[in-house]
Amino acid sequence: MMVKYGVSGLRIAGYKCDVCSKSNVKLWRLNNVLMSQQRKLCIDDAARRLRINVSGVRNSNVPRFLEPGRLMVPAVPLRVKRDRINNYWLYDSVPEAGWRWWDSLPLR
Ligand SMILES: [Zn+2]
Repeated sequence: MMVKYGVSGLRIAGYKCDVCSKSNVKLWRLNNVLMSQQRKLCIDDAARRLRINVSGVRNSNVPRFLEPGRLMVPAVPLRVKRDRINNYWLYDSVPEAGWRWWDSLPLR
């Protein structure tokens, strides 16, 4: 079913880092990757994957896009089935309420 972002304090089951299992934090995903190969990563695991330094990144200065290397974009779920995320919004199609939800998540 489609995620309803209007709900305040929304928690999405299964929204956790695929490496360290941290949940209720901002997650990123690789851009232009098939859903079957898609992984969602927290800032620190994304940084390890991209080999970038994010030690200076805080809640107040979170970049939406992580580069260089492969572009990672915010993982904003579009559809979920039980505890699995079936699909993500393309980053240029994320609805306003979806951005508000993602922006409200803590970084770490
Ligand atoms: Zn992680």
